[in-house]
Order: sequence, then structure tokens, then C-alpha cells
Amino acid sequence: MPKGRVVINEEACKGCALCVSACKQDVLALAESQINARGYHPIEYVDPRERCTGCGLCAVICPDAVITVYRQRRTPARANTVVTLS
Ligand code: SF4
Ligand code: SF4
Repeated sequence: MPKGRVVINEEACKGCALCVSACKQDVLALAESQINARGYHPIEYVDPRERCTGCGLCAVICPDAVITVYRQRRTPARANTVVTLS
């Protein structure tokens, strides 16, 4: 399964939690201890077990384009790769 990474523009977030509901990996949450310049609790990315798949649902559902998702590209596994240092 591919891995993803999420970048959040916290100051643009209005804390509606649509993205929190959309994330099937449960790695987004409202940051209850933070308030942004707009007066909202922004979301935070909590993913210690690296479960984000990069599916992009959170970015698609966000009405304010707060989230950017990066997805790790899959590369074919190589057997017996030898790196020679000269
Ligand atoms: S990209 Fe998918 S898995 Fe990752 S935080 Fe967004 S909704 Fe969740
Ligand atoms: S959907 Fe967008 S505006 Fe709403 S909480 Fe998530 S990032 Fe913030």
C-alpha cells in the first residue's frame, strides 16, 4: 500500500472537521489546544504508525483547499542490488 504525507495550511483551516470524517485511516484530528488567526481549532496530522495511504480524500473534501497530499511513488523491488563505493 502506498504511503502518503499531508501538509496542512493551518491558518486557512476553519475547523469544520469534514476531512477528519473522510479519513478512513483516522490520522487527522482537530487540534484542541491550538487556535489559528481565524479563531478556529485547525486540524493536525497524527500518524505515528504511518498509516496515511495518500488517498487524497481529505484534500478533495476540504472546501478551503487547506490540505496538500503527497503520495510516495512505488518502485519495483530489486533483488541482489549491489552498490559499489570506490
Ligand atoms: S490522504 Fe487519505 S489517509 Fe492520508 S490523511 Fe488524507 S484522507 Fe487520510
Ligand atoms: S475540511 Fe478543510 S477547513 Fe475543514 S477542518 Fe479539514 S482542513 Fe480544515
